[in-house]
Amino acid sequence: MRKAVPPEKDWKQKYFDCLQKLNDAEATWLELEKLLRKAISRLAITAKGLNDELDQVLQAIQQASRDRDDDALDRRLGDLADLLARIGDDLLPSLDTATARPATPAEQGPQYYLLDLIGQLHPNAALARRLQAFRDSIFSLDDEQCLSRLAELLDSALQEGQLEPDDGAAREAVRDVMLTLIEKIGFTHGQSEQLEAIRERIDKKFDFDNWRGYLDQILAEIREIIHGISQDKIELESLIVDVTRQLGEISGVLTDDEDAQLRGRAETRQLKELMDDNVGQIRQQVETEQDIERLKQGIHRRLETIRDGVEEFVASDNRRFEEAQARNRQLQQQVEKMELESRQLRHKLDENRQKLMYDRLTGARSRLAYDEMMEQELSRWERYRDGFSLAVLDIDHFKRINDRFGHAVGDKALQIVAKMMLKTIRKTDFLFRTGGEEFVLLLPRTPLDRATPVVEKIRASVGDANFRYKDERVVISLSAGVTEVQPGDDAGSLFERADRALYEAKRQGRDRLVVSQE
Ligand code: GH3
Ligand code: MG
Ligand code: MG
Repeated sequence: MRKAVPPEKDWKQKYFDCLQKLNDAEATWLELEKLLRKAISRLAITAKGLNDELDQVLQAIQQASRDRDDDALDRRLGDLADLLARIGDDLLPSLDTATARPATPAEQGPQYYLLDLIGQLHPNAALARRLQAFRDSIFSLDDEQCLSRLAELLDSALQEGQLEPDDGAAREAVRDVMLTLIEKIGFTHGQSEQLEAIRERIDKKFDFDNWRGYLDQILAEIREIIHGISQDKIELESLIVDVTRQLGEISGVLTDDEDAQLRGRAETRQLKELMDDNVGQIRQQVETEQDIERLKQGIHRRLETIRDGVEEFVASDNRRFEEAQARNRQLQQQVEKMELESRQLRHKLDENRQKLMYDRLTGARSRLAYDEMMEQELSRWERYRDGFSLAVLDIDHFKRINDRFGHAVGDKALQIVAKMMLKTIRKTDFLFRTGGEEFVLLLPRTPLDRATPVVEKIRASVGDANFRYKDERVVISLSAGVTEVQPGDDAGSLFERADRALYEAKRQGRDRLVVSQE
């Protein structure tokens, strides 16, 4: 019995299968390439603005990818890997500028945090001199040295107060240094429960003989914050190392795939040659061979050679196809992982930024938000001459409220006053807490004659309110200085003018508003 399927049909079928596979492999490659191009443009968008050199390389990569110039792409990916290895560390501080705002002292590093902190203290002349020396040497010290130097300084400053233990003023001074330190730490870094507990203890009953104990607790708190700062830095650093590694791997996968493609092409060429060769020989034998039996055998041998060749090609192509699929999956996972990580990082940065934009105690906007918005308002003023007004509001004799009722009541008063102010202003106005009991009101597109009634309304509503604590009346009033932007103003001159008016309001007896136009 003859075979139902002659051998030619068998190998032709295989050959067609094989062509189909080649097409599939091509599709896989295109898919892979599409993914890579997507990854590159996402990366370029995410990383844009971190670093000038990086921007340039990413731009070149995008261009090469758009031009489909694979050689250029390969070279640029190499550049990128080199650059990332070189500037990985430098990217850290500039991650902050990626969110278009200056880094806070805490984000710049422990030393900046301490500089900012001591910059906010009000030392006497002797301590000021020592603090200056400390400032000058701060960058040559490591974190721990910084802390112990600061501890020594504060310790000796406080010791001096202790020379006259019966002196009530010295006692007050030491207590004040403690409370100011706690406040400043809280103000720049959000109040922690522990800090709050120390403050409450000092506030309730200040144990003068135990000031060293308080100081140690406060320093432990600063140490904690510094540790937190370093932790954040480490997290960012490891993320960048990870992204760099993944980029390296992606470029490795690409090279693998190119190799596979080249191998595939070479094998296809070999198969074609083998077929041409054998078909040629069959044709020749058909023309020259007289003996039918030998002709049959000859043809059979050639066909077998061709079939073996095709089988080998198909097997090798299957392997290549599976490898390409595995690489494709790997690449896809990597791209997804990178996308997820960059989304998470962006989210974290956004979240931190959002936190920094508001004051936790009162819900008013923060000092940082004030600096940013003031710049925006000023450049709008430069461009459109869109006049705006500014008021500085300060609670009168706030220290007395703290001293009489305690800090917790003082905090509550701050919250209530802020709430009243926020209720009075329009959605388009902005209220900032720029200091302990000092607020700034920014009134965009509002000339002085329309700003003054708003500020007066706030002052009157706070002054007329009947605050009580345990049946005792708590008198709270505000003084304010108001001004309008003028040609040639910058953030500093504008604030100074409002602040001078505030000072004048205090001088005239408080609970009033003074307008300044010059
Ligand atoms: P003036 O009328 O001249 O403004 O007097 P004042 O007492 O309000 O001003 P001073 O600047 O002498 O004191 C401000 C006080 O505000 C000192 C500080 O203890 C207190 N303070 C600052 N921040 C906070 C805070 O967050 N909570 C509480 N409870 N008190 C604070
Ligand atoms: Mg005050
Ligand atoms: Mg004040």
